[in-house]
Amino acid sequence: MNLKLFNTLTRKKEIFNPIRKKHVGWYACGPTVYWYQHIGNLRTYVFNDLLKRVLLYDGFKVKHVMNYTDVGHLTSDADEGEDKIEVAAKREKKSAKEIANYYAKVFEKDLKKLNILFPDIIAKATEHIKEQIELVKILEKKGYTYQTSDGIYFDTSKLKDYGKLGRIKKEGLKAGKRVSIGEKKNKTDFALWKFSEKPGVRQQEWNSKWGIGYPGWHIECSAMSSKYLGKQFDIHTGGEDHIQVHHTNEIAQSEAAFGKKPWVRYWLHGAFLTSKGEKISKSKGGLYTISELEEKGFDALDFRYFCLNTHYRKPLNFSLDRLKGAKNSYERLKNIILDLKSKKDSNKTKDYEKYKKEFLKSINDDLNIPRALSVLWNVLRDKKLGSKEKLKLVYDFDIVLGLGLKDIKAEKVPSEIKKLVEEREKARKEKNWTKADKIRNEIKKKGYIIEDSDSGYIIKKA
Ligand code: AMP
Ligand code: ZN
Repeated sequence: MNLKLFNTLTRKKEIFNPIRKKHVGWYACGPTVYWYQHIGNLRTYVFNDLLKRVLLYDGFKVKHVMNYTDVGHLTSDADEGEDKIEVAAKREKKSAKEIANYYAKVFEKDLKKLNILFPDIIAKATEHIKEQIELVKILEKKGYTYQTSDGIYFDTSKLKDYGKLGRIKKEGLKAGKRVSIGEKKNKTDFALWKFSEKPGVRQQEWNSKWGIGYPGWHIECSAMSSKYLGKQFDIHTGGEDHIQVHHTNEIAQSEAAFGKKPWVRYWLHGAFLTSKGEKISKSKGGLYTISELEEKGFDALDFRYFCLNTHYRKPLNFSLDRLKGAKNSYERLKNIILDLKSKKDSNKTKDYEKYKKEFLKSINDDLNIPRALSVLWNVLRDKKLGSKEKLKLVYDFDIVLGLGLKDIKAEKVPSEIKKLVEEREKARKEKNWTKADKIRNEIKKKGYIIEDSDSGYIIKKA
């Protein structure tokens, strides 16, 4: 069965055909490691993870490269403002390296908690300065650059198809009266190399043939992806906010330097996690980190389950109430699976294969995970299928869903509670409902709840 992916470049769902059969070269834009990644950022990495798991499930060999931006990302996505890492270093009175290492570690812990598979290569911008300078030199040689008093810029008017990814209209982009663009020739031109205002003040700066400075934000992704994946590769991902500027500029400089068109064949973008209809951004507030959610009694995987219920290209509105709803469904799911694990019955009906096909069809239809999840629930609701077969399907589907369903274990219940539960069962058998309810309340007071189902009961912590 063919895998279809929505390509931002063509705005169409396309059959995925990699350059090398069954091999995938993929570059994922990673975090700027100057602060905690919030759950909005993390939604993008859950989407990345689903893509990776689907590719692996389909039998592709994946080379997944991700970057850490530890220099050059300015407080405004244009070429103005201060370097985010330098700002954080001043704020926390630490070195830029300490800042980047600390937030990268927290991010990695969050990935682990979210069952996100790690990239095969993590590339740091500061460890690839030489490659970035080399790339700027190539662009300079080919006539795409010019110098201003604050850096080396890419002249976007030199490319006929600049802005194709974001469908940016060219009119009005020239330097004119209405918009002040400093010394830039065109509004869309961007910095490849920025000069240090006063050498010796910044923590991170390097020597180059143009002067002491640091790389622009976009050049790192072109330089590092080509180092690890070659001059043309299959997939590039990021959040949808990257379409207009960051990815547009990556395409411009890479196609200009390498001469391959398209530089990347499939561009995939994840929609935003929003809060009350607004973007959850670090500057706007209203955002949580995974540890903040944990303090509120949630588990990272509750958030993963929450994300899985909405297609990656649809905005997802976040609220603690909605997360609570997801947590309840996820717990119900885990309890049903625990119950299945305790059973031995087997019956492979003809629907077994049908479920497998439906699941595969859903994930291969541009990662339709919400539909794949509903197939999982249909399996669990099936009255004829045996417990063994159900579990087999669940474990297979979870290779993609990543909800840790194989590893869940029943909680250890204290013997005092077990005894009460047995007494309640006895009362129920004797149809003494008043007594049964009374015991149930007593159990609740002791911090446990009993959930009855067709197949028996489950004891959980309240
Ligand atoms: P940053 O650390 O700011 O470079 O962002 C890391 C990733 O998170 C990028 O791919 C962004 O596109 C993505 N991102 C930022 N905010 C959100 C959000 N609210 N929802 C989903 N993705 C986001
Ligand atoms: Zn990038």
